Amino acid sequence: MILPRGFPGVAFGEASDGDPRYDETVRRTMSEGLGIAAVWATIDQVHGADILVATDPGRLGEADGIASSAVDLPIAIATADCVPVVLRGDFTIAVAHAGWRGIASGVVEAAVRAVSETGDVVRSAVLGPHIGPCCYAVAPSVVDAIGGHGGTTTTGRLSADLSGAVHSRLPGIEISGVESCTMHDNRFFSYRRNGTGKRQVTVAWISQD
Ligand SMILES: [Zn+2]
Repeated sequence: MILPRGFPGVAFGEASDGDPRYDETVRRTMSEGLGIAAVWATIDQVHGADILVATDPGRLGEADGIASSAVDLPIAIATADCVPVVLRGDFTIAVAHAGWRGIASGVVEAAVRAVSETGDVVRSAVLGPHIGPCCYAVAPSVVDAIGGHGGTTTTGRLSADLSGAVHSRLPGIEISGVESCTMHDNRFFSYRRNGTGKRQVTVAWISQD
């Protein structure tokens, strides 16, 4: 697990942690290591822009993000190459699954809105491991769909800069990030690398103290 510096209450899973979505042992082990509740609020992700509010653990339904003001309630999303985005306000947190489709649909803005709707305001954000422009070769239409945030892969092809696109949707918010590319860094699951069905999770929570 990666615990981003200066951002307590967030953990980014790695492949070595396993995929806790369907493996209770993985989830329990991660929870014990983090000192958090072993039951989490989760969603069935569909590359859309819906954010659900969690007040209790369990599967909330189809969405691509979760917001919550509940203390000691871990909220989690799963990613392989998409960007895990965590937002923090004064008393509300949100997690969002942001691939190019979600970004184009407005999932990042929707997560910010979900925090605002609790009466809070987003103070900071942290982005977890995701596929970088070094590896994410795409068609020009994908770069267009995410606002022109393109790059060049290490082999000279047009690529998408998902991080740049997410940054542009969080104006005025302090953003930190874990600089790792899921495709060329074997510590992570990557659908693009080998078609795996496995995902690393991002889990966030509000501690009592
Ligand atoms: Zn890469």
